[in-house]
Amino acid sequence: MKIPIAKTEFQKEDFENILKPLKSGWVVQGPYVKEFEYKWCNYTGAKNSIAVTSCTTGLHLVLSALGIKAGDEVIVPSFTWIATANVVEYLGAKPVFCDITPDTFNIDINKIEKLITKKTKAIIPVHLFGLSVNMDELNKIAVENNLFVLEDAACGFGARFNNIHVGNFGIAGCFSFHPRKAITTGEGGMITTNDSELSEKLRSMRDHGAAITDLQRHMQNKPYLLPEFPYLGYNYRMTDIQGAIGSTQMDRADEIHKKRNKIARHYIDELENIEWLNLPFSNEKYVHGFQSFVCLFQNKKITTENIGEVNKKRNEFMDYLFEKGISTRPGTHAVHNLQYYMEKYKISPQDYPESYIADKCSVAFPIFPSLSEAELEYIINSIKNYKCAV
Ligand SMILES: *Cc1c(COP(=O)(O)O)cnc(C)c1O
Repeated sequence: MKIPIAKTEFQKEDFENILKPLKSGWVVQGPYVKEFEYKWCNYTGAKNSIAVTSCTTGLHLVLSALGIKAGDEVIVPSFTWIATANVVEYLGAKPVFCDITPDTFNIDINKIEKLITKKTKAIIPVHLFGLSVNMDELNKIAVENNLFVLEDAACGFGARFNNIHVGNFGIAGCFSFHPRKAITTGEGGMITTNDSELSEKLRSMRDHGAAITDLQRHMQNKPYLLPEFPYLGYNYRMTDIQGAIGSTQMDRADEIHKKRNKIARHYIDELENIEWLNLPFSNEKYVHGFQSFVCLFQNKKITTENIGEVNKKRNEFMDYLFEKGISTRPGTHAVHNLQYYMEKYKISPQDYPESYIADKCSVAFPIFPSLSEAELEYIINSIKNYKCAV
């Protein structure tokens, strides 16, 4: 058996829909992007959805529209995909790392206030692996300190807190449609915002800062006149080819979310008693999106002294599963421990100890809707049969 960590799963309706923009000849940000945005609003409950080329460009666009600039500071978790910090760097601002809590893998809200200075302008909470941050607590701090909240909801499809879909808690939220994510358009991203003024600005800025879109211009009576450009914009437009496959996937959104949760539930029920695995956090306030199923490998209490040893044991466990044809991955990486950030800000791994532990000792198991029951049983039995040295 060979089981990948994730799988892209296009279906007949996606194949049919993708041909429509190709046949029509209108292939960039047209009716199919609009349809995808409309369905994204319906699913998430957000007032406005703005499709872009990736979650990364979405985050960059929002920070830019909010006026984040050199001299500003933005608080980001130290355990996340590197892009969360990179977008702050793009604008010459400084990402200020905040450690995580090991049970949720999300930003440790109790450590945020100490990091706030006169220069702090925003916080980017990350709903990592599909688990929402406690947005009541986070927003309280943001309001008290007059900070923007931009949600990195790259993994956030289907993730809810108090029954509200992520992407509705901050000034804006950004989602990813990279193939590792639950909905994919190859590359692609979506910004949600309930602020209509910001929404209009983002629509313009993703399209070179133009006052109207090409489609609007082509439908006017003087299509040969080019528009005004009120903003410094970018070309972050999604193609209609991507819009078309995003749109048909949204018709299956509930089904995709349910299947991921069913697999996760099965893992949790079966692996609950394994002492050396910490399973994903759950609580009635949260609906998990399960973009990934990430556990903490912990054959003993992890400390500064033994982290290298536990990391070695985790890697042996990953080797064992690899030999059995089962793909695993670390959850993600500790950004403060990556070369660019370590060198630029002179950070050492132990400055954010929980992120460092999550980097060295987390392990993700395969999760995707078409994972069969037989494959799931095989993975679970392989894990259960592992003789873990304690
Ligand atoms: C995947 C991911 C991103 C990047 O998304 P892209 O669409 O590839 O730009 C950013 N942040 C997090 C937390 C992610 O998981």
